[in-house]
Amino acid sequence: MTSQEILSLTDRYIMHTYGRFPVAIDHGKGATLYDPEGNAYIDFTSGIGVSDLGYGNHAWADAIARQAQRLGHASNLFCTEPPARLAEILCKRTGMSCVFFANGGGEANEGLIKLARKYSFDRYGKGRSAIVTLNNSFHGRTITTLTATGQEVFHNYFFPFTEGFRYADANDLSALEAQGDDVCAVLMELVQGEGGVLPLDRDYVHAVAKLCAERDWLLLIDEVQTGVGRTGSLFAFQQYGIAPDAVSFAKGIAGGLPMSGILANEKCRDVLGPGTHATTFGGNPVCAAAGLVVQETLTDAFLEDVQAKGTYLRNQIEALKLPCFGATRGLGLMIGIEVKDGYTNKAIANRLIENGLLVLTAGPGMRLLPPLVISKKEMDQGLEIMAKVLG
Ligand SMILES: *Cc1c(COP(=O)(O)O)cnc(C)c1O
Repeated sequence: MTSQEILSLTDRYIMHTYGRFPVAIDHGKGATLYDPEGNAYIDFTSGIGVSDLGYGNHAWADAIARQAQRLGHASNLFCTEPPARLAEILCKRTGMSCVFFANGGGEANEGLIKLARKYSFDRYGKGRSAIVTLNNSFHGRTITTLTATGQEVFHNYFFPFTEGFRYADANDLSALEAQGDDVCAVLMELVQGEGGVLPLDRDYVHAVAKLCAERDWLLLIDEVQTGVGRTGSLFAFQQYGIAPDAVSFAKGIAGGLPMSGILANEKCRDVLGPGTHATTFGGNPVCAAAGLVVQETLTDAFLEDVQAKGTYLRNQIEALKLPCFGATRGLGLMIGIEVKDGYTNKAIANRLIENGLLVLTAGPGMRLLPPLVISKKEMDQGLEIMAKVLG
C-alpha cells in the first residue's frame, strides 16, 4: 500500500482518538524509519519511549520468533520461563522484591493504586484510601488513572470519576505535609513526561520519601516513561537515590511489544494475594522474551552511554541557538526543549516531521525520546535537519 492508501484506510476505519501526523511508517533500521515510498525519517521519538533498541534489531526479532514458535500464551494459571527470568533480573537489578506483569502503563498504575489501598486496608481498615498525586502529572487513560492525572483538562466528559484522589504542586513539601490521616500513598513521576519533561528536585523527592516512611504512606513511583534505561539508569529512582515501595514500568520494557508491570518491595510482597489482582495477557512469554533481550542490552556501560548521548544531544541543540528554542532539560535520553514565546510546539513538530525528523511535544515544549541505541551519525543528521528547518 502507498502512504496515502494507509492514511485513508486509517481515517475511515479507526476511531479518531489520536491527533496523528500524516505519515505512514513501514519499517526501520537503527534509529531511522522509512515510509512505504522509502522516505527516511530520523527518529527522536522511539514510538513515545518504547522502541529503546531501535528498529530491525536481530537479537530482539529472533528471540520473539523463537518464543512464538515454542509457545505464544499459556495464561497465568501456569508458569512459563521468560517472565520468571525477566522478573528475577528486574528484582536483582533494582533491589525490589517481586513483580506483577501487565500490558500497558495505565494498567500498571491501576496495580499501584490497588496495592496501596489494599496495603492500607489490611493494616488500618476502611477510610484511609486517598492517594496524592502531583499537578502536571500523567498516569494513564483509564477512568481511575485519568483521575490520578493531575491536570484539570483530563477531568472531563467521563463522569463520575474515581473517588479518593488529591493533587499537590510538585516540589512543594508543605502541600503534602498538610494532607490528613485518610491518605494511603503518594504517586509521582520523577521526571514528569507528558507534563513537559520536568525533573523533580532531588531534595524534594528525598523529603517526600521521608514523609511517606513517617506516615506509613506507600511511595509509588510511575516509571512508565522514565524506566528501562531512558534516563541513563535502569530506573530513575536509582539515580535519585530513593527506595520506593512500588514502581510501575511499561513503555520500553519489551522494546516494542506491549508489556508493563509493577515492582514492589518486601513490605508489599504479599499484599495482593490470590484472587485480588489479575490480567489475562500479563507476563506473556513472547513479550517477556523480548524484554530479556532489552535487559541483556542495557548493561551498565550501555546506560553510561545513554547519559553521554543525552548530554551530547542537549549541548548540540543549545549550541544551534535556534530562534524558537530556549533551554533544554531532562535526564539521559529524555529531553525537553523550551519553546519561546511567539512559536508553538505543534507547528515546530509538523515542520520537522515534514522534513524528515520525528519529534514529540510535551506540555508547551518539545520532547525528544530517541531510541537508546541511536548512533552519533543519526543524532547529527537529526541536528542538521533542526538547523536547516528552524535556523
Ligand atoms: C505513557 C504513560 C502512561 C500511560 O501508559 P499507557 O501504556 O499509554 O497506558 C502512564 N504514565 C506515564 C508516566 C506515561 O508516560
